[in-house]
Amino acid sequence: MTMQECQSYVYSFAKRNYVMSDESTIHNLDSDELLVKSSVHLPNIRGDYRFNVQLRDLSFVKTGGLCDVLFYPKDEEDLIDFLRNKPSNLRALCLGNMSNTLVPDGGIRGCVISLSKFMTNISLQEESANVQAGTCLNALIIACVSQGLSCCEKLYCIPGTMGGAIVTNAGVPDFEISDVLVEVNVVDHQGQRFSLKKTALNMEYRNGNVPKHFIITSAVLKTSPCNKDKLGSAINEMLEKRRRTQPVGQPTLGCTFKNPSGYKAWELIMNAGCDGMSIGDARISDIHMNFFVNSGEASSSDFIRLIQLVKDKVFQSSGIMLEEEINVIGEEN
Ligand SMILES: Cc1cc2nc3c(=O)[nH]c(=O)nc-3n(C[C@H](O)[C@H](O)[C@H](O)COP(=O)(O)OP(=O)(O)OC[C@H]3O[C@@H](n4cnc5c(N)ncnc54)[C@H](O)[C@@H]3O)c2cc1C
Repeated sequence: MTMQECQSYVYSFAKRNYVMSDESTIHNLDSDELLVKSSVHLPNIRGDYRFNVQLRDLSFVKTGGLCDVLFYPKDEEDLIDFLRNKPSNLRALCLGNMSNTLVPDGGIRGCVISLSKFMTNISLQEESANVQAGTCLNALIIACVSQGLSCCEKLYCIPGTMGGAIVTNAGVPDFEISDVLVEVNVVDHQGQRFSLKKTALNMEYRNGNVPKHFIITSAVLKTSPCNKDKLGSAINEMLEKRRRTQPVGQPTLGCTFKNPSGYKAWELIMNAGCDGMSIGDARISDIHMNFFVNSGEASSSDFIRLIQLVKDKVFQSSGIMLEEEINVIGEEN
């Protein structure tokens, strides 16, 4: 699609609950009505737009509906130009690799911003790494190992981006990304830039406390020189451990629930008798009970119902209400 066509792209979506209009509101339409009509003028950008994208094709769990527009900014400037010039009624949110995000079957109305195509630069120094937010954690770890730098190698095999890892404060039992984070660079939805020191975020277990209106564009992490063989062994160990304890290769979002203080979510799920439980093709993994997998053609609604069922069962058996670790983002139907 040419830039001219993009600039005045005419949305024509069938069967949607929400459409964008040129007015400053989003109209809620009856789902059986003929749904669309209006046109939204998207700004000229240097990156790429894609339209009516099946998010299930991008999601780690292979479920989820359409998003109206997917925007891959070329760089931070391109993102800022887009945010400053986009129609005010076009909602925009940033996703990473979708390895922790369940998009409902109704998809996402508006624009999904993804930094994972172009904003993946890594610049390494002896004491720090500057990393663009679309970079995969594994790519950063491999780059550090090859330079003999220790950084976040304990997170090897977590399939997220730098941005997603900061928002979720990705971690393993003895390490979190916050342990090496120094500062994050963000832009807000008006296209204004800010730098935030880690201490301004108050990061906690699986929550980076990044305000929702910030898009992380890059981060600075601490690095320190380390023996390459030692680093190589550390990442091999992580890989082996995951192969033994997790449903590697199956569509999943990792741990569904956070561990409540003093408990393991998988143990609570097991003790509640949820072993092997499924709804449609959404099922609890035989290998790790806190991992829910798509064993075929599951929908997001199957996952949402299974999550609720497990929460109810665990509450009945233990009095503990599990809290989701995964993010659910989008429209129900
Ligand atoms: C097999 C498997 C194993 C896993 N193991 C672990 C584990 O051991 N530990 C762990 O912590 N997690 C684990 N996860 C979960 C997941 O990989 C992490 O949470 C990861 O950090 C999410 O990154 P992402 O890029 O996929 O984020 P997404 O799922 O795409 O997004 C997560 C959240 O971050 C926001 N976001 C993403 N990028 C940006 C940005 N640039 N600016 C602003 N907001 C942004 C999104 O809006 C969303 O709210 C696992 C997942 C899988 C599939």
